[in-house]
Amino acid sequence: MSIQSKYKCSECGKEFEILPDIMLCPICREKQKPEEPLHGILEVQYFTGSSVKIEDLLPLEQKWFPNIPVGSTPLWKAENLDVFPNLYLKDDTCNLTGSFKDRASILVAAFAKKHQIKEIVLASTGNAASSMAGIGAACGLKITIFLPKTAPRAKMIQSLQYGAKVISVDGNYDKAFDMSLEYSKKHNLLSRNTAYNPLTIEGKKSVSLEIFQQLRKAPDYVFVPVGDGVIISGVYKGFKDLIQFGFIEKMPTIIAIQAEGSAAIHDALKSGTFRAVNSRTVADSIAVDVPKCGYYALKQLQKYQGRSILVSDEEILSSQKQLSKKAGLFAEPAAAAPYAGFLKMKTKLPKNATIVLLITGTGLKDIDAAMKKITFPKNAIRSIEEIQ
Ligand SMILES: *Cc1c(COP(=O)(O)O)cnc(C)c1O
Repeated sequence: MSIQSKYKCSECGKEFEILPDIMLCPICREKQKPEEPLHGILEVQYFTGSSVKIEDLLPLEQKWFPNIPVGSTPLWKAENLDVFPNLYLKDDTCNLTGSFKDRASILVAAFAKKHQIKEIVLASTGNAASSMAGIGAACGLKITIFLPKTAPRAKMIQSLQYGAKVISVDGNYDKAFDMSLEYSKKHNLLSRNTAYNPLTIEGKKSVSLEIFQQLRKAPDYVFVPVGDGVIISGVYKGFKDLIQFGFIEKMPTIIAIQAEGSAAIHDALKSGTFRAVNSRTVADSIAVDVPKCGYYALKQLQKYQGRSILVSDEEILSSQKQLSKKAGLFAEPAAAAPYAGFLKMKTKLPKNATIVLLITGTGLKDIDAAMKKITFPKNAIRSIEEIQ
């Protein structure tokens, strides 16, 4: 069955057809000031009179999706990790390019295929770039990436390895974001900029649908690492769809994890307003000065009584190490942050609660961070007598 869908502006409620030339609400985007989260984020809404299957909750038909391994990632209990009996890891390191970003990239690639679009442009701090580069490669698309020159080397190498055109930007992510928009407008190309392209939120919601299918119920708590706020917005969107169509009754408690040095959404949840920060954290994937999806994510957290918690770089690195040592899961710092957040608030959580930590990217993408917590063997030996 094909389900009817439209875009609806999250601010003014106006509806639009889902077409390549619309990204933000043309009315609300006029409010945009520099150094602010984006105005006029569009949300995909579904309309139907009859019964709906979870597989139908997509804004385009299944036939447009490339047959590549994205999503359907393992949800598993790491028994050595903690005494909580129902603590699950949603392991998105298993996606094609090693990060959660593939969930958004695959939807944008399918959309491009449907509309016979051959080239996609985006700005990224690293993972969205390597993700779109890899999925674009598998789909025969040309990918152009605007990457700050400070991006972790592995993520730049990964993007180049997949054959994307990488433009190195002398400036931060915000500058790369603006330049990529200027470029995609000038050449009339499809943008996959996170939050700006509404399909990035819609693609990321698939994680919530999967968690529900894997647990056969909604979890009580989901811990989500937060930078621009698109993943957490997608998590909310998935559960909202499940509520709309009667699969679950209530919204799980979503907990936003931010680094102390990049806390824009946490601060806004406490104070009600956004102020630009100068982000600094070892967790590069959640380091943002102005969270692009900030207004929208904040609205979800407020509406559904979500919570937020800050973790220090030291807490992130030590939880990254513990996650590897006790669960065999090597996550990048941003992806270990949910575990750091869980450790910090676990005394306040009911012991039997069903808890999911989103592990959003593999540690091999940033070996410099992991090297801070390991010691290399000193000398190479010539015989086993030398072992101490
Ligand atoms: C992008 C990313 C995040 C944060 O997602 P936002 O949508 O920016 O909040 C967290 N972890 C990893 C590994 C990421 O790549």
